[in-house]
Amino acid sequence: MKKKTIFASLLAAFLLCFAYSCMQEQVDELDNESFYERSKPLIMDAMRKYDSYFPEEGIMELRSWKDAGGIAVKPLWQYANVYGDKDYHAAEFLLDSEKGFDYATPESADKFKKTRDRRYRTSQTNFVYLVEKKTGREIMFLMTLVPDLSYIESTKFKPFDKMSYLKRDKKYSGYIFFHNMEGRYVNGWRYSSGEITHTVTANEEEADFDIVSTRSLVCTTHYLVWYVEECKFWGNASGENWGWDCTSWYEYQPLYTSCIDDGTGDGNYNSGGGSSGDGGSGNSGGTFNGLALNCSLNSEGVQLLYDKIEEMKQECIYNYMFNTISGNKQFTIITTNPGMSTYGGYNPNTGVLFFQNNSEIPSAFPEEFFHLYQDWRYEGISQYLNTTGHPNIEFEVKVLHDLMNYMNCSFWGAPFGSPLESEYSNWLLQLIDKTPLTYNDIMTHKYNGYGYFDFLWSFRQSHPSGNYPINSGLFPALLQDVFSNSGCS
Ligand SMILES: [Zn+2]
Repeated sequence: MKKKTIFASLLAAFLLCFAYSCMQEQVDELDNESFYERSKPLIMDAMRKYDSYFPEEGIMELRSWKDAGGIAVKPLWQYANVYGDKDYHAAEFLLDSEKGFDYATPESADKFKKTRDRRYRTSQTNFVYLVEKKTGREIMFLMTLVPDLSYIESTKFKPFDKMSYLKRDKKYSGYIFFHNMEGRYVNGWRYSSGEITHTVTANEEEADFDIVSTRSLVCTTHYLVWYVEECKFWGNASGENWGWDCTSWYEYQPLYTSCIDDGTGDGNYNSGGGSSGDGGSGNSGGTFNGLALNCSLNSEGVQLLYDKIEEMKQECIYNYMFNTISGNKQFTIITTNPGMSTYGGYNPNTGVLFFQNNSEIPSAFPEEFFHLYQDWRYEGISQYLNTTGHPNIEFEVKVLHDLMNYMNCSFWGAPFGSPLESEYSNWLLQLIDKTPLTYNDIMTHKYNGYGYFDFLWSFRQSHPSGNYPINSGLFPALLQDVFSNSGCS
């Protein structure tokens, strides 16, 4: 029993000594008794608030972009940096983690591979606790710093010394990004010589059906290297001859998209609504009758989505879908993400629904709601994400959307953009003449010899999802459900 404890503390000490040696200066401050006395109340508040968030184990899961499982982390309360500015009291804590890990830019990672000098492979993730002085509001999140190679060298390998959440080096170059208390990526920024140059979006959106895979002039896709190291101590019973074994690997290759910032980037943790937020606890009852587990829209966003859903429920098919899905499938979280490159998106891996900003909610929601419904009807659509079947999933949504518009005498759809444009709209017009319109009609009716799967092939040529093959054995389960069971047509 005792040996086990020693083992555990050695392991923790070792992880600390390589992962956090750069924070030595701040650690030393704690030796100063008056500093500790002054800081103690805020540290205690941070501990209390953190524990209230994780009543069970007190362990967070820091996730890579792709949400492929997390690394267990928790704050080390004894390693605090306590400070403030005119608006906030702040306490930042080093993290203990089950494994050592570092993000590095590709340039730094290359330099590390050549030199084996760990100082090139360095990032720092802190737990940040803020108290807004005016309101007493408490805000918690994780902040990660990934310095550029040039900044690492220009600071003589002390790239974190002048960096905290509220006070940042005017010369900082590198990345700063934020994870929420669920360990999920929220937002981030790229700095060059202290100026924000890019907004950074994580790969969570990359995995979305509606993320267009082409690159614009202002956005580029990159990798950060996520280097993980696990070490174990060994020794005899008396503690002699101890040593350690480490294994390391590149567990993830996190992908992110950085877009040139339009000058509005504020460099802060922005959870929900696009302004400095508090992790989404401020929304007003916005889980929309159980459609979402959680919602981080601000009150304006909640109202817009609420109004949109009420409007949709006036339509028989939407009403059927809302009623059917209720209690069966939910969005995990509804949120805004100003950094994303499309207006809205649904990530079937995480169940997260995104809007670029509030004003996109009314137009972007129906498409993503269809995807949520598909996710349930197909018993998971992530298996088709960015692979065979991707065009099937997108085309089915388009057909349903267009049929519903045509049935309402609104002959507008997103342009088909293929040589079969007019054949497709004539096919739709003939379909809506059938009463009732059945699933079988949709699958078998032809206009000029063209039917559902012909239009699917044509759609694929003109749509971003066309980078992926059609699954000719995958039948449209959403259409089948709606036109067999809703009684609406
Ligand atoms: Zn879509």
